Amino acid sequence: MVDQTCGEDRAMNRNQSSMVEATNPMDPGGKINLKGLWIEDYEKLLGELGEKRYKARQLASWIYDKGITDFAQMTELSKDLRKKLNQIAVIDSIKLVKRQISQKDISEKFLFELSDGEKIETVLIWEGKRVTVCLSTQVGCQLGCTFCATGKMGFKRNLTAGEIIDQIITLGEHGITHVVLMGMGEPLLNYDHTLKALKIMNNELGLSFAAKKITLSTAGIPPMIEKLAEEKLKIKLAISLNVATDEKRNKLMPINKKYPLKELLDAVKYFVKQTKRGITFEYVLIEDVNDSEKDAQELSKLIRGIRCKINLIPYNPVPDLPYQRPSQETVLAFRDYLYPRCPAVTLRWSKGEDILAACGQLRTLS
Ligand code: SF4
Repeated sequence: MVDQTCGEDRAMNRNQSSMVEATNPMDPGGKINLKGLWIEDYEKLLGELGEKRYKARQLASWIYDKGITDFAQMTELSKDLRKKLNQIAVIDSIKLVKRQISQKDISEKFLFELSDGEKIETVLIWEGKRVTVCLSTQVGCQLGCTFCATGKMGFKRNLTAGEIIDQIITLGEHGITHVVLMGMGEPLLNYDHTLKALKIMNNELGLSFAAKKITLSTAGIPPMIEKLAEEKLKIKLAISLNVATDEKRNKLMPINKKYPLKELLDAVKYFVKQTKRGITFEYVLIEDVNDSEKDAQELSKLIRGIRCKINLIPYNPVPDLPYQRPSQETVLAFRDYLYPRCPAVTLRWSKGEDILAACGQLRTLS
């Protein structure tokens, strides 16, 4: 009898690892972390446990919609299933280790520790009734944009879908209304986990964010932009453009050497055509780098004919990096050149500069 049970356990563990390898890493105790898995994964797991697949939706609802982390409280599931889940799985969370409130304006930065000891940063920004969370998708970043603090720290690893959405769940008490994937890392280079996290965010059994309240920001990975265009997600896309010629962009954003502007803009046009939705170009204004009238001229020419909005963001200086923010006069002159030559132009002074929580300032070296 005992041997038989052990045999069942071993079979369960083998099944468990076959599923886990493709989806979520096991926790140090050898159990699957169910946070970050989604309906199709739960269906597979339940099938392997000899359970009905329809229970996958109930499980998703308990974990994400109701936020329950203890199987004993999942009363809709049978006692037998709860016992099985308890044996093989956990619902684990990332750990908040530090929070910093900005004195200058209303933003807050959170430092989280992951199960392997790596750290990531997440930012909350309050603007009236709007509460936006800026999520990280990788530990560090391999793209090395020269103006960015995260780029300077190098790349450690991708986040799992669970680690991405857990940044929202852990900060849930703050009444988050909007999500931007614009923190540490390039989300399109962590495509599968980012996509799963987006599905969990944008589903009523998950975190129930409307797609129009979710924005993915990318430095520009054309094949992945085209892939994203084929997904049935109606999220917003933002391109971190920052300069309008290949010569300058190669220096500022080395990914441009692999994917020059023509290739990037072809992918953007494809995205707009496929999804029938406009996109946002983000343009971080850096003194004497990309803030002249000639730069504005080149930008308006480059994006002509594309259904888009331009979001201008005056640069936030980063210690040890040689770049500065342009004067207010220069920033306004740049904006006034662009509009009305470009269909829509917004100017956003980044928040949280004093706690290094602003755009391009996130890093976890200290
Ligand atoms: S700006 Fe974005 S893509 Fe570039 S290094 Fe920083 S985090 Fe990576």
